[in-house]
Amino acid sequence: MPSPATTSASTSAGAGLPRQTVGARAVPFFTQARSFEQLWPLIERHAVEVLDDGKFSHGRQVERLERALARYTGARHVIGVNSGTDALVLLLRAAGLRPGDEVLVPAFTFVASASAVVLAGGRPVFADIDPVSYALDPAALAQRLTERTRFVMPVHLFCRLADLSAIGAFAARHDLTVLEDSAEAIGMRQGGRHAGLFGAGGVLSFFPTKTLGAIGDAGAVLTDDDEIARTVDALRHHGRLGRTIGNFPAINTSTSLPGFNSKMDDLQAAVLLAKLTRLDADIARRAELAAAYERRLAELPGVLRRPQVGGVEGQVFYVYLIEVERRDELAAFLAGHGVETEVYYPSPLHLQPCFAELGHRAGDFPVAEAACRRTLALPLYPELSLAEVETVCDLMHDFFDQRESA
Ligand SMILES: *Cc1c(COP(=O)(O)O)cnc(C)c1O
Repeated sequence: MPSPATTSASTSAGAGLPRQTVGARAVPFFTQARSFEQLWPLIERHAVEVLDDGKFSHGRQVERLERALARYTGARHVIGVNSGTDALVLLLRAAGLRPGDEVLVPAFTFVASASAVVLAGGRPVFADIDPVSYALDPAALAQRLTERTRFVMPVHLFCRLADLSAIGAFAARHDLTVLEDSAEAIGMRQGGRHAGLFGAGGVLSFFPTKTLGAIGDAGAVLTDDDEIARTVDALRHHGRLGRTIGNFPAINTSTSLPGFNSKMDDLQAAVLLAKLTRLDADIARRAELAAAYERRLAELPGVLRRPQVGGVEGQVFYVYLIEVERRDELAAFLAGHGVETEVYYPSPLHLQPCFAELGHRAGDFPVAEAACRRTLALPLYPELSLAEVETVCDLMHDFFDQRESA
């Protein structure tokens, strides 16, 4: 079998800018090709087990991964599913969301945080964000409460947790259930507790770009609640309770509720089991790269905001996100020199066409809107070299110095 490392990988993050490579200076926004060279022997061992078992669904690897992730996160239950998005939909349903229930979600996040609410039968109600954490601003929640509000969904973005104590206190005051979109937050902890376990449950995404990335789609639900775990287990598999091992589970076993087919693929589980052994080393490497960016960008005029590096409890750098002047011009300049960047997120959710019926207008959530105009994510993944970070920073200095002297 040819080594996967020899095949060329393109970014799965879908950078919207043309990619022009300038010799050795090209820095992809994200690639797994480099890590594969080292990881392949480890992955192969697990993957061959899947192939030998001949069970590509309902096999042993998903259960093994669930147990390993339960150990890693401290969750009582981890239920493997096919994506972070489905994990959110199943979690919302299992936590008792009824048609028309309102869920408070931030206006600035990945679209799935809010579309999962719609898919589960609820109604997302947007609130503005805190400009430092980019997560729900606890002070913005009260004005968005209605009679129908039943859930609040903090989303942990980029490199730190939302303000869980303030959001938790607000939820307790108003009898709301906290469900976390912790899709980006593997490894983030506060007071020893892992993201996703501060309320009724949370999720993980193993989309390839994530801190723990599969070679395709996968996700999980985390919860300490036995009833939620049971329902998610059933919902992921056509509403059937209890696991049927084998590729051809009995077709007419009794079904307790209408469910989905959202099971995790055993090959993805095999890859994730292998990569989980390196997760803490990867997280440490991400912090090292963030510190390298910080050293070079701290003094640079034109950079309006940088993430705090160090001194933030439970910090894990999934994305290194800065706010800059003339963001699109800078991104185009970097792309012209072979450096891919990404905009997280180009449009706030209250202005996305799919939520038009909620009737929002520009200006409704100004902090979220400003973040969409100014934020830029720089390449950050364990296989990125410190020299590449220097290249990116040199180019940023070129861009802003030229502008200063122009
Ligand atoms: C990645 C992500 C999701 C969705 O996860 P998928 O596995 O891609 O479905 C949801 N919410 C946030 C905040 C994410 O970053």
